[in-house]
Amino acid sequence: MARGELKLIIGNMFGNKTGRLILEIETLRQFGKRRVLVLKPDTDTRSGECLIRDYHGKSMEAFEVPARDPWVALRIVREKEAEAGSRFNLIAFDEVQFFAADSGFFRVVDELLERGYGVLASGLALDFKGEPFGSTLLLFGLCRSNNDCIWLTPLCAQCGAPAPLPQRLIDGHPAPYNSPQVHVGGKETYEPRCYDCFELPARPVPPY
Ligand SMILES: [Zn+2]
Repeated sequence: MARGELKLIIGNMFGNKTGRLILEIETLRQFGKRRVLVLKPDTDTRSGECLIRDYHGKSMEAFEVPARDPWVALRIVREKEAEAGSRFNLIAFDEVQFFAADSGFFRVVDELLERGYGVLASGLALDFKGEPFGSTLLLFGLCRSNNDCIWLTPLCAQCGAPAPLPQRLIDGHPAPYNSPQVHVGGKETYEPRCYDCFELPARPVPPY
């Protein structure tokens, strides 16, 4: 079987990545008559259990893959195909940043492509420190041309310029560099910002 193709939908928060993913899946199912299995990491708790959800509230059913063991995705594909008695054409993943860079997720996607599945993947490129988030940017290595990747950039909440960075705010104030990945206590919010408006207190000073 011919190797499948990857389509990557990446960018900042509020770029409507999940909305774009849902649109692609709906189009493939309705007009392309493709069978698409939707998966997401089990650590995505914002969207609701076994759902992916865009920021307008539109949702779609998804099966959960352990973020720490993404190989389970291959087992879920096999189980769901056995239940349905037919093969999927495409496997879609939302929030791929929650699969850590060393989780093996890159190899899982590579294996799905090798087995002939198309793969759609959506994820956040950079974290609140402006640093690579999980597996998202690694998947670039599986794209064959720039046509395989859609980069979605919202506008800066402060000045309206293109905003590639997620500004983390705790009780309305910029969160410091060393704040934990999962915040406890206080009201945590995010807004998109450009590099000029992005604030990251206590960022380490470069050695040179
Ligand atoms: Zn700005």
